[in-house]
Amino acid sequence: MDIPLLDLVAQYRSIKDDLDRAVLAVVESQRFVLGPEVEALEAELAAYLGVPHGVGCASGTDALLLALKALGAEPGSEVIVPSFTFFATAGAVWNAGLRPVFCDVDPDTFNVTAATLEAAWTPRTVAVVPVHLFGQMAPMGEIVELARRRGAFVLEDAAQAVGARSADGVAGAVGDAGAFSFFPSKNLGGFGDGGLVTTRDAALAEKLAKLRVHGGRQMYHHEMVGTNSRLDALQAAVLRVKLRHLDGWAAARRENARRYAALLADVEGVRLPHVVDGNFHVYNQFTVRARGRDALRKHLTEQGIGSGIYYPVPLHLQECFASLGGKRGDFPVTEALCDEVLSLPIFPELGEDRIGRVAESVRAFYT
Ligand SMILES: *Cc1c(COP(=O)(O)O)cnc(C)c1O
Repeated sequence: MDIPLLDLVAQYRSIKDDLDRAVLAVVESQRFVLGPEVEALEAELAAYLGVPHGVGCASGTDALLLALKALGAEPGSEVIVPSFTFFATAGAVWNAGLRPVFCDVDPDTFNVTAATLEAAWTPRTVAVVPVHLFGQMAPMGEIVELARRRGAFVLEDAAQAVGARSADGVAGAVGDAGAFSFFPSKNLGGFGDGGLVTTRDAALAEKLAKLRVHGGRQMYHHEMVGTNSRLDALQAAVLRVKLRHLDGWAAARRENARRYAALLADVEGVRLPHVVDGNFHVYNQFTVRARGRDALRKHLTEQGIGSGIYYPVPLHLQECFASLGGKRGDFPVTEALCDEVLSLPIFPELGEDRIGRVAESVRAFYT
């Protein structure tokens, strides 16, 4: 690809010396699992997000899973999740022994709202998982208000939204807990898998810290059945270096989005991402709704331009969830989005010229 969807090599080269030094320091220490690097990352990221506790773990999927396990809800209790999200949001609910109940999303923001969540509510609902999809926060004020009124736990899936904020606060710091992912393609990405749970609740943080090491603080003494979901010191060292650049990268992504918006505003056939007033979108993805999406994608590929489809299949129609009884027509917005969305390159190092070429290529397709 001439213009890839994401270029991690460019990012690495821009801060190579600092990253190499940080990695080597961990190698020299031979302390690879949890330890001081992980504690430092937890403290620094918690401070960055303005939340008192951060608990590192093995992935974003595990961040969701550990938070859901910590709930201690009756097996089979229901957790409402959007049908339009990455699989892990629902997979974690299932693996925690709970029942995912799907809901639709808003057609402009691609996010759940209090109304779409409430439509899926039953007396068995114990938690909701609003996803801040593509880097823009879901409307947390109304979601938390609904959950408080109905007595449910709010777990923010902030995997794509580190550093995002809105009038309601910072992503991962508004609900009862927040789940972050350090998968390499996320805005704060490690050299492999990693994740973190945020919370304001000290008791919950303590429980999470036990769950990630087989359910005990003291070795060989287990208060609950946890798992091995520790964060590597190597990942923490890399992430601490990258955290210092996160605001700059977010600014570059936002500038790229602004350029696309200016260049594509009059192109009928693509609907640009809608940013809610007061929202600080961090654009993990720049996702448009495109007429003739698959043909547009083919056209871009032929021009050497990378793109992505996030996501092609609604979760309520996934084979593995057939037993939950989802059927086509259940969530019309999600189903339409899966046919129409296309994500264009937005990574920080992209630059004005390449954005111009992507925009020109999109325009050429429609004219
Ligand atoms: C990436 C992602 C996850 C899972 O994170 P991993 O670190 O890949 O396990 C969960 N939810 C959403 C919305 C994601 O984008």
